[in-house]
Amino acid sequence: MDSKVLGIVGGGQLGRMTVEAANRLNIKTNVLDAENAPAKQINSTGDHVTGPFNNAEKILELAKKCDVMTIEVEHVDAGALAKCGKPVYPSPDTIKLIQDKYAQKKYLQSKDIPVAEFEGVDSTIESCQKFGETYGYPFMLKSKRDAYDGKGNSVVKSADSIQLSLDELKSKELYAEKWAPFDCELAVMVVKELDGTVHTYPCVETRHVNNVCHTVYAPAAVSLEIQDNAKELAKRTVASLPDSGAGVFGVEMFLLYDGELLINEIAPRPHNSGHYTQDGCVTSQFEAHVRACVGLPLPEGATNFSTPATTAIMLNILGQPNEGEMKICERALATPGCALHLYGKESRVGRKLGHINIIGSNLAECNKKLHFLENGENLEEP
Ligand code: ATP
Ligand code: MG
Ligand code: MG
Repeated sequence: MDSKVLGIVGGGQLGRMTVEAANRLNIKTNVLDAENAPAKQINSTGDHVTGPFNNAEKILELAKKCDVMTIEVEHVDAGALAKCGKPVYPSPDTIKLIQDKYAQKKYLQSKDIPVAEFEGVDSTIESCQKFGETYGYPFMLKSKRDAYDGKGNSVVKSADSIQLSLDELKSKELYAEKWAPFDCELAVMVVKELDGTVHTYPCVETRHVNNVCHTVYAPAAVSLEIQDNAKELAKRTVASLPDSGAGVFGVEMFLLYDGELLINEIAPRPHNSGHYTQDGCVTSQFEAHVRACVGLPLPEGATNFSTPATTAIMLNILGQPNEGEMKICERALATPGCALHLYGKESRVGRKLGHINIIGSNLAECNKKLHFLENGENLEEP
């Protein structure tokens, strides 16, 4: 399996788990990121490059040592990737489009993909006030670029709080989005193979606390019809991209109370909402990504749950004061059906340090385990 060397731009946890999957297939991976980045820690065979993952020269240096290039983060120099002389998956055009959330939304709208209403604003009270008068309050003010984990979003509650949001987001280029009054948030991972074959993973529900993904429920507790609609919309969304090449895409959406789905954003890479696939599906999102990038087969059913009854909850482990998150990890090790994945990162409050996949055969069973992991005590029986 080791005929092609895969270059990964970015060496955080997504890169690390991609390396893990590639290692099992004897596929060599070279990583561009800082010395001792999570993906490098578990990769002694790679011919790595040290430097920032958005540095054009470093990207070109990495490409020279690889046969195929991919990313684990979209905030990279897409122009450098476009001229690196190697196949890049997903395509640099897609990366460039997605890294600007406003351009991404405009593009999706032009392709008739449903999104919340939005408009570009300049960083003035007047401009935001105009948006609020047209679309109502609250609305979401968003940075066009470099956003992740909700950093780059600010809720504008009323005309009086516009200045507060502008201060929070500093002088970045912004746009405004109408509030999506959602019932819940759904996500679907899509895999595109080089020959154009497309697979979808199950439809999941993502729950956020303070704008950061807290838990993922697989499958989502919505009707099968809504799950199917979400998968179809995710496929259509990925198919609409300029030239999506190959690889996995995370498609985030809002489910409104009347059943309507709106696309929130696309991640052109493995995604937090797909971590449960490592222990809950036939093939993990990371392995699917590696296979799609280097052109290895991905048979039908690869993206299915391991068994028809498989149910999973993924819990993110965020740094707590005095490394309080360690307690959750210890409980996970002592709880049947729990798989602990740590990223090799130093603990800092609020930092994503790992996740736990809770695997069971029904939601009640997984919920019980989740309650124990978080609280250290069992759920009272009703
Ligand atoms: P990620 O870590 O997923 O990349 P991000 O920083 O790119 O996050 P978004 O996905 O734009 O941020 O938004 C983060 C969360 O904020 C969403 O998952 C949702 O809970 C909420 N949100 C975003 N846009 C809206 C909206 N228009 N209406 C209501 N809530 C929203
Ligand atoms: Mg995002
Ligand atoms: Mg998001």
